[in-house]
Amino acid sequence: MYRLADKLLEQLKKLIRREFNRLGIFGFDELNVPRVTTETTELLERLMAENLRRYLQAAQKASADAKALVLGAGYEDREIAIPDEAWVIAFLQSYNYVSGYLYEQEAERKRLRLAEQMLTAKEYQSRTQYNDSIRRAANLWWTQTSHYMLDAVDVAILYVFKAMGVVQVKWITNIDGRECQTCRDRNGQIYDIDKVPPKAHRGCRCTWKPVPKK
Ligand SMILES: [Zn+2]
Repeated sequence: MYRLADKLLEQLKKLIRREFNRLGIFGFDELNVPRVTTETTELLERLMAENLRRYLQAAQKASADAKALVLGAGYEDREIAIPDEAWVIAFLQSYNYVSGYLYEQEAERKRLRLAEQMLTAKEYQSRTQYNDSIRRAANLWWTQTSHYMLDAVDVAILYVFKAMGVVQVKWITNIDGRECQTCRDRNGQIYDIDKVPPKAHRGCRCTWKPVPKK
């Protein structure tokens, strides 16, 4: 279920590294509050646009895969709306139970923190501190980016299941030796479609199968 998502994340990983590295080229004499604000704001806009585009691709693929599973489980075919850009935007704007934050607000918080750290490092004329701040910000953005990628897939799957009239799902844990106790306990459990518990942690690769129609 996450194969395309993983491929898209590989692209994003490279892009994130490249984008944040751009901030590393500035000399301290070039930096001031308006400049740092502009640079970080534009960086964030580009990153969010790149994420949006790929979340959409992943959600569309997941919805096609989910539909195939539903048909395979004996449900009748139904005309359902395929996730589009508005769908992804609505997904990003909804409260995330696992991370406990709103996507855009959290992105802006991260940007402000980075801008502040860049200016602090300039004050102290510390290149090490400056580069560390950028590296840390890149890592934090990667965490948010990858979490929402897997989540876009999950939300798309459950959306399709519901739209196709699936009543119950079976929890399928990705048993790879790194799964947590909660996920292991859920493996094979049957849940009503409206009572599927939220993922226990970020980066969870558990998925669901529709319980065949009786
Ligand atoms: Zn899990």
